[in-house]
Amino acid sequence: MAMISSEGLPVSNPSESSSSRPLRVAIVGAGPAGVYAADILTKSSGVKDGDFEVSIDLFEAYPAPYGLIRYGVAPDHPRIKGIVNALHKVLDRGDIRFLGNVTYGRDLTLHDFRSFYDAVIFSTGAVKDADLDIPGIGLQESFGGADFVSWYDGHPDVPREWPLDAREIAVIGNGNVALDVARMLVKHPEELLSTEIPDNVYAGLKASPVTDVHVFGRRGPAQVKFTPLELRELSHMNDVDIVLYPEDFEFDEASDDAIRSNNQIKTMVNTLTNWLVEEHAESENPSSRRLHLHFLHNPVEVLDDGSGKVGGMTFERMQLDGTGNAKGTGEYIEYPVQAVYRAIGYHGSALDELEYDAKRGVIPNEGGRVLDGEGNPVPGIYATGWIKRGPVGLIGHTKGDALETIGFLLEDRLTLPPAKNPDPQAIIDLLEERGIEYTTWEGWNRLDAHEANLGAAWTGPEGLDHVVRERIKVVPREDMIRISRG
Ligand code: NAP
Repeated sequence: MAMISSEGLPVSNPSESSSSRPLRVAIVGAGPAGVYAADILTKSSGVKDGDFEVSIDLFEAYPAPYGLIRYGVAPDHPRIKGIVNALHKVLDRGDIRFLGNVTYGRDLTLHDFRSFYDAVIFSTGAVKDADLDIPGIGLQESFGGADFVSWYDGHPDVPREWPLDAREIAVIGNGNVALDVARMLVKHPEELLSTEIPDNVYAGLKASPVTDVHVFGRRGPAQVKFTPLELRELSHMNDVDIVLYPEDFEFDEASDDAIRSNNQIKTMVNTLTNWLVEEHAESENPSSRRLHLHFLHNPVEVLDDGSGKVGGMTFERMQLDGTGNAKGTGEYIEYPVQAVYRAIGYHGSALDELEYDAKRGVIPNEGGRVLDGEGNPVPGIYATGWIKRGPVGLIGHTKGDALETIGFLLEDRLTLPPAKNPDPQAIIDLLEERGIEYTTWEGWNRLDAHEANLGAAWTGPEGLDHVVRERIKVVPREDMIRISRG
C-alpha cells in the first residue's frame, strides 16, 4: 500500500534526495479522474514540502476538458455538472498544463510519451456501451444508451441527427444511465431548455412522437442499481406519469436483508412502493406521456418489424432465487416498441501498445501500476479512474483511485525510466511539427466564454421567451478548435 499522510494525501519517502529537475508526468484524459490525479500529485507531500518539483501535462482527445462531465452527465443534472467548477479551479491555478485535441495512439505514441515524460498516467475512462448479445440487437432503431448520451450531450464525434420516430421505447437496464436515457426520452423538452443542451438536440427531442418509455430491470425492486436522488427525480417531470406493476414487486430473503442493511435500497424500495400505491389511487387527469418501470424482465430478443427495424421486444419473466439473483420462469412477454436502448453498463476501450482486459474493459493493473502480458508492472506507466477499475461508482470515487495511483507513482519515483527530453517546450515543438491543432487552457476559456455568450444572447420563441440559458454548447469539433485557437 502506498503511504498516505494524515491529510489523506500521498507521501513520498522523506529519505529520498531531491532531483535536479522537475519530475515530468503526462496524464492522458482530462475527465475528473485525470484532473483529480493531477491535483493530488501537485499536493503530495514531497512536492508541497519542496523536496522535488513536478511538471504535469494533461492531455485530452477532445478540444475541451472535463470528459464525462461534459459528455456523459445529463444536461438536466446541474448539481453534477457543477463539479466542473471545482475542476476549473484546479486547472486555472496554472501549475497543470492542458493540451486538448490530442489523441493517444494517433497523434502521439507511447514511444513519444516515454521520450518526453518520466511517467504516464492513463485516465481515459470508459465511453462505449457494453454489448448485449441477443438476437435482433443489431436492428435499426436499436441503440446503445452511451451513444444516445453522447448525442444529447453534444459530443463532437457523433452524428448531429438522432432518429426519434418511436412512440413506444424500451430501455434495458436498472442503473442511473438507464434513468438518464429514459428521462431524456420522455421529458417534455421545454423543461430542458434552460440547460446547456445544443440546439439540434432540443429540436430533435421536440419533434419526438414518444408517448411511452418502458424501463426493464432483470432483477427485482430491491436489486436496482439506481441511486435514491436520481430515482425520486423521475416524479418531478411535468405531464409524465410513472407506471408500475404489482406483479413485479417480488422480494426474496436477500432482498429483505438488503432493505434492512442498506439505507439506499430501503429508500428506493419505499419510493417505488409508494408510487405503486399512489398510481392506483389517482388515475384521473392522465398525463400525455408515461414512464413504465418493469422489474424481473430479462431481455431475450429484439423483434423485426419486417423491414429491418425494431418492431417489438421479448422478455422472459424472472423470479428471484433467494440470493437476490433471478432465474427464468419460462414465461415470455412481448412489448410492442419501435426503439430499444440498452443501458447495461459502459465499457472501456483498448489503448495502443498496452495490455487490455477485454472482458472487464480495463487496462490490467495493480493498484494503478499498469501490468505487461506477464503480469509485471511496466515501469513508468499508470492508470486511474474507470479505465483502471471499470465503469462503476460515482465521480467522487475516482479521487480514491487517484490517491492510490499517485501513491505508487511517488513510491516508484526514483526508479522511473527518465525522459530523454524533459524540456516542456519539446512536446509543443513535436505537436506543431506534426501539424496537430492542440488546444490550451486559454483556448478553453475562450470557448467557455463563447458558449456562455451564446446562452446569454438566446431569445426564445413566444411562450418560452422567459427562459434563461446558462450556455449553449458548441458541438462540431472544427468549430470548437477554431474558437479555442482564436
Ligand atoms: P450500472 O449501475 O452498473 O447498471 C447496469 C444495469 O444494467 C444493472 O441494472 C444491470 O443489472 C443491468 N444489466 C447488465 N447486464 C444486463 C443484461 N445482460 N441484461 C439486462 N440487464 C443487464 O451501470 P450504469 O447505469 O452504466 O452506471 C455506471 C455508473 O455511473 C454507476 O455507478 C452509476 O451510478 C453512475 N452514474 C451516475 C449518474 C447520476 O446521475 N448520479 C448518472 C449516470 C451514471 P444487474 O444488476 O442485474 O447486473
